[in-house]
Amino acid sequence: MSVARQSLMDRYRRYLPVSDATPSLTLGEGSTPLVAVPRLGKRFGVPGLHVKVEGQNPTGSFKDRGMVVAVAKALEGGARAIICASTGNTSASAAAYGAAAGLETIVVLPAGKIATGKLLQALVAGARVVAVQGNFDAALRVVRELAADERHPVTLVNSVNPFRLEGQKTAAFEVCDDLGRAPDILAIPVGNAGNISAYWNGFREYRAAGLIPDLPAMWGFQAAGAAPIVLGHPVAEPDTIATAIRIGDPASWDKAVAARDESGGRIEAVTDAEIVAAYRDLARDEGIFCEPSSAAGLAGVRKLAEAGAVPAGAIVVCVLTGNGLKDPATAESVIDAVMDAGISAAEVQEVLGW
Ligand SMILES: *Cc1c(COP(=O)(O)O)cnc(C)c1O
Repeated sequence: MSVARQSLMDRYRRYLPVSDATPSLTLGEGSTPLVAVPRLGKRFGVPGLHVKVEGQNPTGSFKDRGMVVAVAKALEGGARAIICASTGNTSASAAAYGAAAGLETIVVLPAGKIATGKLLQALVAGARVVAVQGNFDAALRVVRELAADERHPVTLVNSVNPFRLEGQKTAAFEVCDDLGRAPDILAIPVGNAGNISAYWNGFREYRAAGLIPDLPAMWGFQAAGAAPIVLGHPVAEPDTIATAIRIGDPASWDKAVAARDESGGRIEAVTDAEIVAAYRDLARDEGIFCEPSSAAGLAGVRKLAEAGAVPAGAIVVCVLTGNGLKDPATAESVIDAVMDAGISAAEVQEVLGW
Protein backbone atom coordinates (compact mmCIF):
# COMPACT_ATOMS: atom_id res chain seq x y z
CA MET A 1 0.00 0.00 0.00
CA SER A 2 1.30 3.44 -0.90
CA VAL A 3 -0.22 5.15 2.11
CA ALA A 4 2.27 7.07 4.24
CA ARG A 5 0.02 7.68 7.22
CA GLN A 6 -0.24 4.82 9.65
CA SER A 7 -3.66 3.18 9.90
CA LEU A 8 -5.45 3.12 13.25
CA MET A 9 -5.03 -0.64 13.57
CA ASP A 10 -1.29 -0.36 12.91
CA ARG A 11 -0.76 2.64 15.21
CA TYR A 12 -2.26 0.85 18.22
CA ARG A 13 -1.73 -2.72 17.09
CA ARG A 14 -0.28 -3.98 20.36
CA TYR A 15 -3.44 -2.96 22.22
CA LEU A 16 -5.89 -4.41 19.68
CA PRO A 17 -7.13 -7.96 19.05
CA VAL A 18 -5.52 -8.09 15.59
CA SER A 19 -2.93 -10.51 14.26
CA ASP A 20 -1.24 -11.31 10.96
CA ALA A 21 -4.43 -13.20 10.08
CA THR A 22 -6.48 -9.97 10.32
CA PRO A 23 -6.94 -8.30 6.92
CA SER A 24 -5.66 -4.73 6.83
CA LEU A 25 -8.44 -2.23 6.35
CA THR A 26 -8.46 1.55 6.63
CA LEU A 27 -10.28 4.63 5.37
CA GLY A 28 -7.95 6.94 7.31
CA GLU A 29 -9.75 6.72 10.66
CA GLY A 30 -8.32 8.00 13.94
CA SER A 31 -5.53 10.51 14.64
CA THR A 32 -8.19 13.21 15.04
CA PRO A 33 -7.29 16.64 16.43
CA LEU A 34 -7.34 17.55 20.11
CA VAL A 35 -8.01 21.28 20.03
CA ALA A 36 -7.70 23.81 22.87
CA VAL A 37 -10.81 26.03 22.88
CA PRO A 38 -9.85 29.06 24.99
CA ARG A 39 -12.66 31.38 23.87
CA LEU A 40 -15.34 28.84 24.74
CA GLY A 41 -13.36 27.94 27.86
CA LYS A 42 -13.48 31.56 28.98
CA ARG A 43 -17.22 31.67 28.36
CA PHE A 44 -17.67 28.52 30.49
CA GLY A 45 -15.13 29.51 33.16
CA VAL A 46 -13.01 26.47 32.27
CA PRO A 47 -9.65 27.74 30.92
CA GLY A 48 -8.31 24.20 30.45
CA LEU A 49 -11.11 23.21 28.04
CA HIS A 50 -10.20 21.04 25.02
CA VAL A 51 -12.23 19.19 22.42
CA LYS A 52 -11.46 15.91 20.64
CA VAL A 53 -12.83 16.44 17.15
CA GLU A 54 -14.13 13.00 16.21
CA GLY A 55 -16.21 14.45 13.37
CA GLN A 56 -12.98 14.40 11.36
CA ASN A 57 -13.10 10.63 11.02
CA PRO A 58 -13.78 9.30 7.48
CA THR A 59 -17.56 9.07 7.83
CA GLY A 60 -17.73 11.99 10.24
CA SER A 61 -18.06 10.24 13.60
CA PHE A 62 -16.07 8.22 16.15
CA LYS A 63 -17.97 5.12 15.06
CA ASP A 64 -15.25 4.53 12.43
CA ARG A 65 -12.69 3.60 15.11
CA GLY A 66 -14.70 0.61 16.24
CA MET A 67 -16.15 -0.22 12.84
CA VAL A 68 -12.76 -0.68 11.18
CA VAL A 69 -11.82 -3.32 13.77
CA ALA A 70 -15.26 -4.99 13.75
CA VAL A 71 -15.31 -5.24 9.95
CA ALA A 72 -11.70 -6.44 9.71
CA LYS A 73 -12.48 -9.15 12.27
CA ALA A 74 -15.68 -10.06 10.40
CA LEU A 75 -13.59 -10.47 7.23
CA GLU A 76 -11.04 -12.53 9.13
CA GLY A 77 -13.87 -14.80 10.27
CA GLY A 78 -15.12 -15.28 6.72
CA ALA A 79 -18.23 -13.09 6.93
CA ARG A 80 -20.06 -12.10 3.75
CA ALA A 81 -22.49 -9.62 5.27
CA ILE A 82 -22.80 -7.24 8.23
CA ILE A 83 -25.90 -5.86 9.95
CA CYS A 84 -26.61 -3.10 12.45
CA ALA A 85 -29.34 -1.07 14.08
CA SER A 86 -28.51 2.61 14.18
CA THR A 87 -29.47 6.11 15.22
CA GLY A 88 -27.53 7.09 12.06
CA ASN A 89 -23.78 7.17 12.51
CA THR A 90 -23.28 3.45 13.02
CA SER A 91 -25.09 2.84 9.72
CA ALA A 92 -23.02 5.46 7.88
CA SER A 93 -19.84 3.85 9.20
CA ALA A 94 -20.94 0.23 8.65
CA ALA A 95 -21.98 1.03 5.07
CA ALA A 96 -18.63 2.68 4.27
CA TYR A 97 -16.41 0.00 5.81
CA GLY A 98 -18.70 -2.74 4.46
CA ALA A 99 -18.29 -1.27 0.97
CA ALA A 100 -14.51 -1.01 1.35
CA ALA A 101 -14.36 -4.62 2.53
CA GLY A 102 -16.65 -5.92 -0.23
CA LEU A 103 -19.34 -7.01 2.23
CA GLU A 104 -23.09 -6.69 1.96
CA THR A 105 -24.39 -4.21 4.56
CA ILE A 106 -27.89 -4.22 6.05
CA VAL A 107 -29.09 -1.39 8.24
CA VAL A 108 -32.24 -1.24 10.41
CA LEU A 109 -33.28 2.27 11.46
CA PRO A 110 -36.06 3.90 13.48
CA ALA A 111 -38.30 5.42 10.77
CA GLY A 112 -38.15 9.21 10.51
CA LYS A 113 -35.58 9.72 13.29
CA ILE A 114 -32.30 9.75 11.35
CA ALA A 115 -30.48 12.99 10.44
CA THR A 116 -30.54 13.45 6.65
CA GLY A 117 -26.81 13.31 6.05
CA LYS A 118 -26.39 10.02 7.90
CA LEU A 119 -29.14 8.28 5.94
CA LEU A 120 -27.64 9.51 2.66
CA GLN A 121 -24.20 8.22 3.67
CA ALA A 122 -25.58 4.70 4.21
CA LEU A 123 -27.55 4.72 0.97
CA VAL A 124 -24.75 6.17 -1.18
CA ALA A 125 -22.39 3.44 0.03
CA GLY A 126 -24.90 0.84 -1.18
CA ALA A 127 -26.27 -0.45 2.12
CA ARG A 128 -29.75 -1.96 2.12
CA VAL A 129 -31.69 0.22 4.56
CA VAL A 130 -34.86 -0.88 6.34
CA ALA A 131 -36.84 1.65 8.40
CA VAL A 132 -38.95 0.13 11.20
CA GLN A 133 -41.86 1.66 13.12
CA GLY A 134 -40.12 1.81 16.46
CA ASN A 135 -37.21 3.43 18.26
CA PHE A 136 -33.52 2.46 18.27
CA ASP A 137 -33.97 0.03 21.15
CA ALA A 138 -36.59 -1.90 19.14
CA ALA A 139 -34.37 -1.85 16.04
CA LEU A 140 -31.48 -3.30 18.08
CA ARG A 141 -33.72 -6.13 19.29
CA VAL A 142 -34.64 -6.89 15.66
CA VAL A 143 -31.04 -7.06 14.39
CA ARG A 144 -29.95 -9.20 17.34
CA GLU A 145 -32.66 -11.68 16.35
CA LEU A 146 -31.69 -11.54 12.67
CA ALA A 147 -27.99 -12.08 13.46
CA ALA A 148 -28.90 -15.18 15.49
CA ASP A 149 -30.75 -16.77 12.54
CA GLU A 150 -28.31 -19.36 11.21
CA ARG A 151 -30.04 -19.59 7.83
CA HIS A 152 -28.66 -16.13 6.95
CA PRO A 153 -25.11 -15.77 8.31
CA VAL A 154 -24.50 -12.11 9.03
CA THR A 155 -22.20 -10.40 11.55
CA LEU A 156 -23.71 -7.91 14.01
CA VAL A 157 -21.58 -4.74 14.15
CA ASN A 158 -23.42 -2.77 16.83
CA SER A 159 -21.38 -1.87 19.91
CA VAL A 160 -22.49 -5.15 21.51
CA ASN A 161 -19.84 -6.56 19.13
CA PRO A 162 -16.78 -6.46 21.45
CA PHE A 163 -14.43 -5.42 18.63
CA ARG A 164 -16.26 -2.10 18.37
CA LEU A 165 -15.29 -1.03 21.90
CA GLU A 166 -11.75 -2.31 21.34
CA GLY A 167 -11.34 0.04 18.40
CA GLN A 168 -13.07 2.94 20.11
CA LYS A 169 -10.71 2.87 23.10
CA THR A 170 -7.94 4.17 20.81
CA ALA A 171 -9.43 7.67 21.16
CA ALA A 172 -8.42 7.64 24.84
CA PHE A 173 -4.89 6.66 23.79
CA GLU A 174 -4.73 9.60 21.37
CA VAL A 175 -5.92 12.06 24.02
CA CYS A 176 -3.14 10.88 26.35
CA ASP A 177 -0.53 10.86 23.57
CA ASP A 178 -1.43 14.47 22.69
CA LEU A 179 -1.63 15.81 26.27
CA GLY A 180 1.28 13.76 27.58
CA ARG A 181 -1.05 12.70 30.41
CA ALA A 182 -4.72 11.91 30.95
CA PRO A 183 -7.10 14.86 31.32
CA ASP A 184 -8.54 15.55 34.77
CA ILE A 185 -12.06 15.23 33.35
CA LEU A 186 -13.26 13.45 30.20
CA ALA A 187 -16.76 14.62 29.23
CA ILE A 188 -18.76 12.63 26.71
CA PRO A 189 -22.32 12.16 25.43
CA VAL A 190 -23.95 8.88 26.44
CA GLY A 191 -26.42 7.03 24.20
CA ASN A 192 -25.99 3.28 24.02
CA ALA A 193 -23.11 3.88 26.48
CA GLY A 194 -20.46 2.04 24.47
CA ASN A 195 -18.15 4.99 23.96
CA ILE A 196 -17.83 6.05 27.60
CA SER A 197 -17.04 2.42 28.41
CA ALA A 198 -14.46 2.23 25.61
CA TYR A 199 -12.67 5.42 26.74
CA TRP A 200 -12.54 4.12 30.31
CA ASN A 201 -11.00 0.85 29.07
CA GLY A 202 -8.46 2.84 27.05
CA PHE A 203 -7.38 5.02 29.96
CA ARG A 204 -7.06 2.01 32.25
CA GLU A 205 -4.98 0.10 29.71
CA TYR A 206 -2.65 3.06 29.27
CA ARG A 207 -2.16 3.31 33.00
CA ALA A 208 -1.55 -0.43 33.27
CA ALA A 209 1.10 -0.05 30.55
CA GLY A 210 2.80 2.65 32.64
CA LEU A 211 2.13 5.40 30.08
CA ILE A 212 0.01 7.66 32.32
CA PRO A 213 0.14 7.97 36.12
CA ASP A 214 -3.45 9.10 36.72
CA LEU A 215 -6.91 8.36 35.38
CA PRO A 216 -9.54 10.99 34.52
CA ALA A 217 -12.95 11.37 36.10
CA MET A 218 -15.49 10.19 33.51
CA TRP A 219 -18.38 12.63 33.07
CA GLY A 220 -21.18 11.25 30.89
CA PHE A 221 -24.16 13.28 29.72
CA GLN A 222 -27.53 12.05 28.49
CA ALA A 223 -30.28 14.18 26.95
CA ALA A 224 -32.97 14.97 29.51
CA GLY A 225 -35.64 13.25 27.36
CA ALA A 226 -33.50 10.12 27.00
CA ALA A 227 -31.75 9.74 30.35
CA PRO A 228 -32.30 6.16 31.55
CA ILE A 229 -29.01 5.92 33.47
CA VAL A 230 -29.69 9.18 35.29
CA LEU A 231 -33.24 8.10 36.13
CA GLY A 232 -32.22 4.56 37.01
CA HIS A 233 -34.77 2.88 34.73
CA PRO A 234 -35.30 2.42 30.95
CA VAL A 235 -37.19 5.14 29.09
CA ALA A 236 -39.89 3.69 26.83
CA GLU A 237 -40.26 6.72 24.55
CA PRO A 238 -36.92 8.55 24.49
CA ASP A 239 -37.17 11.99 22.94
CA THR A 240 -34.50 14.59 22.14
CA ILE A 241 -33.23 16.75 19.29
CA ALA A 242 -29.92 14.91 19.79
CA THR A 243 -30.94 11.86 17.74
CA ALA A 244 -27.60 10.05 18.13
CA ILE A 245 -28.27 9.68 21.87
CA ARG A 246 -32.02 9.09 21.60
CA ILE A 247 -31.78 5.72 23.37
CA GLY A 248 -33.95 4.49 26.23
CA ASP A 249 -32.27 1.22 27.23
CA PRO A 250 -28.48 1.39 26.68
CA ALA A 251 -26.74 -1.89 25.83
CA SER A 252 -23.62 -0.95 27.83
CA TRP A 253 -25.52 0.44 30.82
CA ASP A 254 -23.59 -1.55 33.46
CA LYS A 255 -20.21 -0.73 31.92
CA ALA A 256 -21.01 2.98 31.88
CA VAL A 257 -22.07 2.93 35.53
CA ALA A 258 -18.83 1.10 36.37
CA ALA A 259 -16.79 3.73 34.48
CA ARG A 260 -18.59 6.47 36.39
CA ASP A 261 -18.13 4.86 39.79
CA GLU A 262 -14.57 3.58 39.38
CA SER A 263 -13.40 6.97 38.09
CA GLY A 264 -15.22 9.06 40.69
CA GLY A 265 -17.20 10.60 37.84
CA ARG A 266 -20.86 11.37 37.12
CA ILE A 267 -23.59 10.73 34.60
CA GLU A 268 -26.09 13.58 34.38
CA ALA A 269 -28.73 15.00 32.06
CA VAL A 270 -28.71 18.15 29.91
CA THR A 271 -31.77 19.66 28.24
CA ASP A 272 -32.15 20.10 24.49
CA ALA A 273 -31.94 23.87 24.99
CA GLU A 274 -28.60 23.48 26.82
CA ILE A 275 -27.32 21.15 24.09
CA VAL A 276 -28.26 23.54 21.28
CA ALA A 277 -26.75 26.54 23.12
CA ALA A 278 -23.42 24.71 23.49
CA TYR A 279 -23.56 23.56 19.86
CA ARG A 280 -24.06 27.14 18.65
CA ASP A 281 -21.49 28.68 21.01
CA LEU A 282 -18.85 26.14 19.95
CA ALA A 283 -19.32 27.06 16.30
CA ARG A 284 -19.38 30.83 16.94
CA ASP A 285 -16.52 30.99 19.46
CA GLU A 286 -14.24 28.38 17.96
CA GLY A 287 -15.29 27.63 14.37
CA ILE A 288 -15.94 23.96 15.15
CA PHE A 289 -19.18 22.50 13.81
CA CYS A 290 -20.32 19.37 15.63
CA GLU A 291 -23.64 17.58 15.52
CA PRO A 292 -26.13 18.36 18.31
CA SER A 293 -25.56 15.12 20.27
CA SER A 294 -21.85 15.86 20.35
CA ALA A 295 -22.46 19.07 22.27
CA ALA A 296 -24.01 17.23 25.23
CA GLY A 297 -20.60 16.93 26.90
CA LEU A 298 -19.92 20.64 26.46
CA ALA A 299 -23.37 21.52 27.77
CA GLY A 300 -22.75 19.36 30.80
CA VAL A 301 -19.35 20.87 31.54
CA ARG A 302 -20.79 24.37 31.26
CA LYS A 303 -23.58 23.49 33.69
CA LEU A 304 -21.29 21.83 36.21
CA ALA A 305 -18.72 24.63 35.96
CA GLU A 306 -21.49 27.10 36.81
CA ALA A 307 -22.30 24.93 39.81
CA GLY A 308 -18.64 25.11 40.90
CA ALA A 309 -17.94 21.43 40.21
CA VAL A 310 -14.94 21.91 37.88
CA PRO A 311 -11.73 22.34 39.92
CA ALA A 312 -9.62 25.42 39.09
CA GLY A 313 -6.91 24.60 36.57
CA ALA A 314 -8.50 21.32 35.50
CA ILE A 315 -7.67 19.94 32.05
CA VAL A 316 -11.09 19.04 30.62
CA VAL A 317 -11.53 17.17 27.34
CA CYS A 318 -14.98 17.09 25.73
CA VAL A 319 -15.46 14.45 23.05
CA LEU A 320 -17.19 15.90 19.98
CA THR A 321 -18.52 12.63 18.65
CA GLY A 322 -19.77 13.65 15.19
CA ASN A 323 -19.71 16.26 12.41
CA GLY A 324 -22.28 19.05 12.20
CA LEU A 325 -22.81 18.64 8.45
CA LYS A 326 -24.74 15.45 9.08
CA ASP A 327 -27.71 17.28 10.54
CA PRO A 328 -28.56 20.37 8.47
CA ALA A 329 -32.07 20.63 9.94
CA THR A 330 -30.82 21.47 13.45
CA ALA A 331 -28.28 23.93 12.05
CA GLU A 332 -31.09 25.76 10.25
CA SER A 333 -32.79 26.37 13.59
CA VAL A 334 -29.84 28.38 15.02
CA ILE A 335 -28.55 30.42 12.06
CA ASP A 336 -29.21 33.91 10.74
CA ALA A 337 -30.85 34.22 7.33
CA VAL A 338 -28.80 34.85 4.19
CA MET A 339 -29.03 38.55 3.19
CA ASP A 340 -30.06 39.15 -0.42
CA ALA A 341 -28.64 42.04 -2.43
CA GLY A 342 -28.31 43.26 -6.01
CA ILE A 343 -25.06 42.82 -7.92
CA SER A 344 -23.19 46.01 -6.99
CA ALA A 345 -20.87 46.97 -4.14
CA ALA A 346 -23.29 49.70 -3.10
CA GLU A 347 -26.17 47.26 -2.76
CA VAL A 348 -24.05 44.79 -0.76
CA GLN A 349 -22.92 47.68 1.49
CA GLU A 350 -26.53 48.59 2.01
CA VAL A 351 -27.52 45.15 3.36
CA LEU A 352 -24.37 45.12 5.52
CA GLY A 353 -25.41 48.47 6.98
CA TRP A 354 -22.09 50.12 5.99
C1 LIG B 1 -23.16 6.92 18.62
C2 LIG B 1 -23.07 8.35 18.99
C3 LIG B 1 -23.15 8.80 20.32
C4 LIG B 1 -23.41 7.88 21.47
O1 LIG B 1 -22.37 6.95 21.70
P1 LIG B 1 -22.70 5.64 22.56
O2 LIG B 1 -21.51 4.80 22.43
O3 LIG B 1 -23.92 5.04 21.91
O4 LIG B 1 -22.99 6.08 23.93
C5 LIG B 1 -22.99 10.14 20.58
N1 LIG B 1 -22.81 11.02 19.58
C6 LIG B 1 -22.74 10.64 18.29
C7 LIG B 1 -22.56 11.67 17.25
C8 LIG B 1 -22.87 9.30 17.95
O5 LIG B 1 -22.82 8.94 16.67
